[in-house]
Amino acid sequence: MSFSKLGLIQELLKAVAEQGYTTPTPVQQQTIPLILEGRDVLAGAQTGTGKTASFTLPLLQLLTASTKVHHTSRPVRAVILTPTRELAAQVHDNVNIYGQNLALRAEVIVGGASIMMQTRNLRKGCDIIVATPGRLIDHIQQRNVNLSQVEILVLDEADRMLDMGFLPAIRQIMSSLPKQRQSLLFSATVPNAIKTLAATVLNNPVEVAV
Ligand code: AMP
Repeated sequence: MSFSKLGLIQELLKAVAEQGYTTPTPVQQQTIPLILEGRDVLAGAQTGTGKTASFTLPLLQLLTASTKVHHTSRPVRAVILTPTRELAAQVHDNVNIYGQNLALRAEVIVGGASIMMQTRNLRKGCDIIVATPGRLIDHIQQRNVNLSQVEILVLDEADRMLDMGFLPAIRQIMSSLPKQRQSLLFSATVPNAIKTLAATVLNNPVEVAV
């Protein structure tokens, strides 16, 4: 099995090869083709399984494919929520590494950093926001960001987000997003609380467990 069999474009294959990856991991093999098809996915995958690339690679490809529609403005088209600042920074790094041959801009929006600086960066326009829920809500409430054009939502480490009490925040963010969108939920464990969340976030999802 090689990455090229998954349907990824050259720009991404090149970036993946540059990272030294030769074979997609099981979660990548199972999820990337489904996400490229536009399906919602509920993936049970622990850290270390290659889960980040599982959603980042197809997300970058889908956004690249739909870029031409927007000539002048640069609306936010993908939101990736993570439980911690550290994970947001890691995911942001991954987005930049895998997206190095693409013309997409990503911003990281987390607590503990300057709201003013983040606001300035958001106003410049970005395609992808990687955020922790609380700080993203601050920016939504201050109208620093418009999420009405979001095409893809990712909940990364969803079980940790629930453990940390982010359910109300996730719900509030979802109310700012279009109903018609693609949603991906990644979680190390899939207890009932995650299934309940999945039922409200995902539309006819494919379940993948590794
Ligand atoms: P993650 O589960 O997303 O935290 O990824 C765990 C580690 O695996 C990261 O350091 C990735 O850079 C690395 N990785 C992701 N996909 C692959 C792959 N297909 N082959 C080798 N390493 C990978």
